[in-house]
Amino acid sequence: MNTTTPNPKKGGISVDTEHIFPIIKKWLYSEKDIFLREIVSNAADAVTKLRRLSSLGIRDGADEVYRIRVSLDKTAGTLTVDDNGIGMTEEELVKYIGSIALSGAVDFIKKYENEAEGQKNGIIGHFGLGFYSSFMVSTEVEVVTKSYTDAPAVHWRCNEAGEYELEPCERDEHGTSVIMHISEEEKEYLSPSKIRSMLDKYCSFMPVEIFFDDGEDKQENAEEAPINATSPLWLKSPADCQKEEYTEFYRKVFADFKEPLFSVHINADYPLNFKGILFFPRLGNEYETIEGQVKLYYNQVFVADNVSEIIPDYLMMLKGVLDCPELPLNVSRSYLQTNTYVSKVSAHIVKKLCDKLVSMCRNDRADYEAIWHDICPFVEYACMKDRKFYDRAKNALLLPLTDGTFRTYEEYLEKAGESDKKTVYYATDRALQAQYIHMYTSEGIDVALCERPIEAQFLAIAEQYMEGVRFVRVDAEVADALKGDGEISENETLSKLFSEISGNDTLTVRFDALKDESVPAILTVSEESRRMEEMMKFYAMSAEHSFPTEVTLVINTSSPLINKLSALIATDENKARAMASYIYKVSLLSQKKFSAEEMQGFMQDSFDMLMKL
Ligand code: ADP
Repeated sequence: MNTTTPNPKKGGISVDTEHIFPIIKKWLYSEKDIFLREIVSNAADAVTKLRRLSSLGIRDGADEVYRIRVSLDKTAGTLTVDDNGIGMTEEELVKYIGSIALSGAVDFIKKYENEAEGQKNGIIGHFGLGFYSSFMVSTEVEVVTKSYTDAPAVHWRCNEAGEYELEPCERDEHGTSVIMHISEEEKEYLSPSKIRSMLDKYCSFMPVEIFFDDGEDKQENAEEAPINATSPLWLKSPADCQKEEYTEFYRKVFADFKEPLFSVHINADYPLNFKGILFFPRLGNEYETIEGQVKLYYNQVFVADNVSEIIPDYLMMLKGVLDCPELPLNVSRSYLQTNTYVSKVSAHIVKKLCDKLVSMCRNDRADYEAIWHDICPFVEYACMKDRKFYDRAKNALLLPLTDGTFRTYEEYLEKAGESDKKTVYYATDRALQAQYIHMYTSEGIDVALCERPIEAQFLAIAEQYMEGVRFVRVDAEVADALKGDGEISENETLSKLFSEISGNDTLTVRFDALKDESVPAILTVSEESRRMEEMMKFYAMSAEHSFPTEVTLVINTSSPLINKLSALIATDENKARAMASYIYKVSLLSQKKFSAEEMQGFMQDSFDMLMKL
């Protein structure tokens, strides 16, 4: 190269530039902000390359302090990204920047010109157009670069028509400056707050310190701090990370001051080769949005937010970061949807999450129980959506009991009596079903409390998953364990009386001698028919499709009140009728919520009885 030539060399960026430039501008319109990511990540790459040469001993750079400087000059209308990386010789500059094989890209772009938005982003990275994205916002771009070799520095300047000039210049340090002359329409890229927020979004974890000079006057001796963390927590070995570090990282990245419920640090080796940290957020109230946020990175460079293709939708509340160097930097949605690597990553994430749940349940039981209420709907929903999730997480599923303690399913069944080895008794309403719960718990039978709709729904699925295990609501039947060995004296008249006063001709009346003498009668509704009814309600099916629920009134022959009633029938039928009616209503009351009319009638009955006292 003739460094004394007064006329700079001129050129055009390949014959196709007249096509490519307008297309870049038009095509990438919606994704403009990414130009800064492309330019800064090129700078980080240039530093990484030089670092590697030093670490290989090819170059002595032990004392080198690498950095990237992003600076704004409002007066000149420029945004500059400067690095002290590997730099380029004139030859390299012409090769890499001046004459990129654009023809392939042009063909591609023409072919897909009418494609969906998501594709556009893919093109930039695909054809090494990264650098050219700077033209989305600039009328002119200059590159001043000096190779780490002794080659002289070069100055390249290119206008938006793709015409460039190249001349030798002075630059002390090796490295590259990309000076973007921001166009009139894109003035927002001269705003310090805009640039800072773009740097925060895309460059927060890049591996080289990035300093931002917003062009405003600085206080003298002001300490300069990099805008990024060069070794993000996900790169550390999980064994070396403290809980506080995860919390701090979470708060910083997601600006959420609540502590996450737990985190899963993934460090997947070959062939998946990705790292990441996922957080299970603490959700405040039910009105809070539960949409999570999983940020995707490519070698510490931010790529995309909310990569729903990687995280199964039933885990949509997760927040976190994933660094996948196996995915292209400019990855499109359609690429993610069809890629088998992505589905393997997704499966690995599910596996790791389940493993974490099981390990917490096994090793930190008290802490795990403390968060169960918060995670339960999601964990159970995930089990319902994905059998594999259930298979992996089943030992981490808890049953909250009515006494406030917790059991795993295994523990529950283990503790149940011999005869009921495969039955889980549950309640869905602690207050309404208090009578039943009391009868079970006083016999030492644990009752699971599944008050949230998802919990009850999950039981039906769990029953299919757990072969031979039955889930029986406390008001569905009278367990053998509740029955005493007193003689059962059937009483035809009594049975008739109850059938009559109930006004329900499908009601079955049965006699049993219960251990609990204080209860004169209880109503049971068979599990199957109740579930069927619930399903009908759920699908809002009309009454004509509905099945009659199998309701049974169990008369407790051990109850003194029933004995009294039996005697009363012979002496005072009216009184007996009133008594039977009241007993029936009380048993109805603990089986279901009264309608307004029923409540009114019940209160009237109560007052009438008080009058007779
Ligand atoms: P890509 O980064 O995808 O290869 P670019 O168009 O962004 O495509 O860059 C093309 C090439 O230009 C890079 O591969 C690199 O060799 C060179 N380059 C770009 N920016 C720099 C820089 N700051 N320092 C050194 N080389 C650079």
